[in-house]
Amino acid sequence: MQPIPPITAVELRIVALPLITPFVASHGSVHTRTAVIVHVMGDGVDGWGECAALPEPTYTAEYVDGAHAMLRDALAPELLEAGPMGAEEVRSLFASHGEHPMAVAAVELALLDARCAADGRSLARRLTPAAAEPATRVPAGVAIGLMDSPAATAATAAARVAEGYRRIKMKIEPGRDIGVVREVRAAIGSDIELMVDANGAYSADDHALLAQLDEFDLSCIEQPLSADTPDDLERHAALAGRIATPICLDESLTSVERTERALEIGACSVVCVKGPRYGSWLDAARVLDRCLTLGIDAWVGGMLDTGIGRRANIALAAHPGATRIGDISATARFFTDDICPPITLHDGMIDVPTGAGWASEIDRAALDRLTVGATTITR
Ligand SMILES: [Mg+2]
Repeated sequence: MQPIPPITAVELRIVALPLITPFVASHGSVHTRTAVIVHVMGDGVDGWGECAALPEPTYTAEYVDGAHAMLRDALAPELLEAGPMGAEEVRSLFASHGEHPMAVAAVELALLDARCAADGRSLARRLTPAAAEPATRVPAGVAIGLMDSPAATAATAAARVAEGYRRIKMKIEPGRDIGVVREVRAAIGSDIELMVDANGAYSADDHALLAQLDEFDLSCIEQPLSADTPDDLERHAALAGRIATPICLDESLTSVERTERALEIGACSVVCVKGPRYGSWLDAARVLDRCLTLGIDAWVGGMLDTGIGRRANIALAAHPGATRIGDISATARFFTDDICPPITLHDGMIDVPTGAGWASEIDRAALDRLTVGATTITR
């Protein structure tokens, strides 16, 4: 654990990337992906992070403008005040800001990036246990939002498979579930991994309906019940006893401890790992370490990320504990313009970035073109 030299300035930018097609889930839709980019600077320090918070407070309490204000008014000043520190200390520095995990994770990512640049190693190397090698390529998976008709969803899924995606995840909600999944499964055949993500849209009383999904050989159902109840893990454990499809949790897993508890009581048998949701990319890697030890399948989720967040997800997915295909997609699936060169697909695989730090991967002209707000906080 090495501190990096003092950070003397934190630049915050809000970027706006129009989505090729709006992304619709049960919690809301995104038309333009705005995101906060965090840039830490100092003597020999140049680190970049991205905050995963979505434009509106629909998916979680955090959202772009709120996270930006939190970063500007609290996290950046406190980081500047703290003096030399390592990425490992970010979590404890911001322990009182647990309600803002995505903003905290963005700062940690920027410090990790600065450290990787200084050490000459990749983020994938940093997040993978020392005794293991990070993957050099990861298989690509894609998420399909809610669409107007089962036929349109099935056609989209088939098109993604034709592009090379090896795993299809489709959003479902009450009224857009069994019939759509049936059409998608028929369209892509039985050999392609298919899973569904409900984003907590069902209630425990829906168990008989959810059991109807069992016939489609889904690799898992992600977050069937809401995470916003005190007993969400227990309710998922009860549901797991009533359906055959494995349950994967996303929104419910907000810490390493809650993930361990979920696995202990059988609330899930598959883990979706997201650095921003844990408030820490290092904690996300710890969860993958733990899943690897326990023999539990895990995969890395995405958040309609721009170039930096997308690279961070790919780096995390290179961890040997990420045994299942994640939301690791090509840039072109979502955006025509990005702040970094596009991530591309080759034979259904995506190369893991090997560079030390992302500063050289950022397209400064594109970053300026896509920036809709910028502010710099100094000591
Ligand atoms: Mg999800």
